[in-house]
Amino acid sequence: MDSVYQALVDIVGQEHVSNRQEELFIYSFDLGTTEPHRPDYAVAPRTTEEIQEIVRLANREKVPVVPLGGGLSLAGLAVPFKGGIALDLKRMDSIIEVNEKARYALVECGVSQAQMVSYLERYHPTLTHSEPGAPGPATIGGNVAIHGQGDLAQPYGFNSDMVNGLEIVLPTGEVCRFGSCSISSGWFTLHPLPDLGLFLGWSGTTGIITKVSLRLFPCKRIRGVGQFVVENEELVPEVIHKLTHTQMAEDIIAYSQAVPPFSSGLQHFLINLAADSEKELEFKQEIIWDDTLGEYIRRGDGGFLGFRQGLERPVVSKTSDWRKGGGFEYVGAIMPVDTYPECYRQGREISERHDIPYTVLGRCIGMAHAMMFSWTYAFNRADPESIKQAREALHETDDLALELGGTLWKPGLYGQKLVMERMDPHTLELMKKVKQLLDPNGIMNPGNWEVS
Ligand SMILES: Cc1cc2nc3c(=O)[nH]c(=O)nc-3n(C[C@H](O)[C@H](O)[C@H](O)COP(=O)(O)OP(=O)(O)OC[C@H]3O[C@@H](n4cnc5c(N)ncnc54)[C@H](O)[C@@H]3O)c2cc1C
Repeated sequence: MDSVYQALVDIVGQEHVSNRQEELFIYSFDLGTTEPHRPDYAVAPRTTEEIQEIVRLANREKVPVVPLGGGLSLAGLAVPFKGGIALDLKRMDSIIEVNEKARYALVECGVSQAQMVSYLERYHPTLTHSEPGAPGPATIGGNVAIHGQGDLAQPYGFNSDMVNGLEIVLPTGEVCRFGSCSISSGWFTLHPLPDLGLFLGWSGTTGIITKVSLRLFPCKRIRGVGQFVVENEELVPEVIHKLTHTQMAEDIIAYSQAVPPFSSGLQHFLINLAADSEKELEFKQEIIWDDTLGEYIRRGDGGFLGFRQGLERPVVSKTSDWRKGGGFEYVGAIMPVDTYPECYRQGREISERHDIPYTVLGRCIGMAHAMMFSWTYAFNRADPESIKQAREALHETDDLALELGGTLWKPGLYGQKLVMERMDPHTLELMKKVKQLLDPNGIMNPGNWEVS
């Protein structure tokens, strides 16, 4: 009998551990182009205490632990490169508290985005969170662990900027809390205590996020999305600047794609508006369409495609999956907004060279402080040559994003290496020391963010 397996059974119960090959297969890959690697065990804990016991066991036995939320980050970030324990966190799914007045929700890490949306709609309809365009099973913990962004990114920034407090199981098993929750029972702010920001953006390599307090925002009653289009990509940064100046939109996305052919070469804007009354909506539309975009229409530089009201949430994810075989992966980079034209031109060139219909998209973060620019490459999962082509295109795009002065968001191993090669050596050395201090046995998601 495998002693690690038996110890895991003792911690979480037989039905929540597996070492069966057919089940481990499911945990060996994600939906992107990363080569699969099988874990030795898959474990689904239900409590923080069970997670503590699992990491203590892993430390004793020197077994890797790979946290897994929805497994939807696409870049291989939760693929167990060195085997070990796939720590499936989906059973950590309690919504513990919603504080309406202080506008936050305290949740366990495995609460899914879809669960959060439906819970708020049902019990707190005046509140909303910044929902990523990811499929519904993506988790709150996984999203903040990679600095995700959602449909309120334009006014409020990254989802990880919306964290009011964290509970973490350290790689050595201790539980730590950060924010007001570390000194009282309130989970309303992460500041102004000394900054120990060691867990957001680390892709589970410094600890396991078990609880998150997430900021909530007013949920307006009416939503709508306006579509505007320009031919000249050089105009995009200026249009975004003007749109953000109005402070009227909730989400601003500029995109261009090869499919359908009639729209290829055009730059589209999706401008999401929300209001509590028709009067408020009309006012916002007037400021945006007439006062802000009107000049482009009058000059013949742009056109208004229409406004659809009553949409539930903006949908950005359906544009990705063009090829037979259903695969896609994207490079997401955090770019200065004024690089949009180059991102578009050079990204399109990479796609066309690899014979993949191009899809590029820039989502505004903050008041145009940055954009998340994504270059998506579709591939056929059943065709190794098509996967190879997409992988090459992704690597070239990682190089491009850095050459254009951006930083990579949730990079896979290739991108992480590029980032660390370019990083200031003192910063890199500090990263190494932090990892060694927190994770002396190197058990946490090994392969990722490994400073040599
Ligand atoms: C179609 C599509 C559209 C998308 N659109 C968006 C978008 O608009 N915005 C966006 O932000 N993302 C988007 N994504 C990317 C991704 O799906 C999301 O960011 C998602 O929220 C990641 O959460 P997850 O639970 O799937 O994380 P996982 O993939 O399970 O994990 C991500 C990383 O975090 C680690 N991790 C997971 N849980 C924890 C934890 N509790 N503690 C510590 N580490 C942990 C994992 O080891 C891994 O390294 C999209 C993906 C797809 C497929």
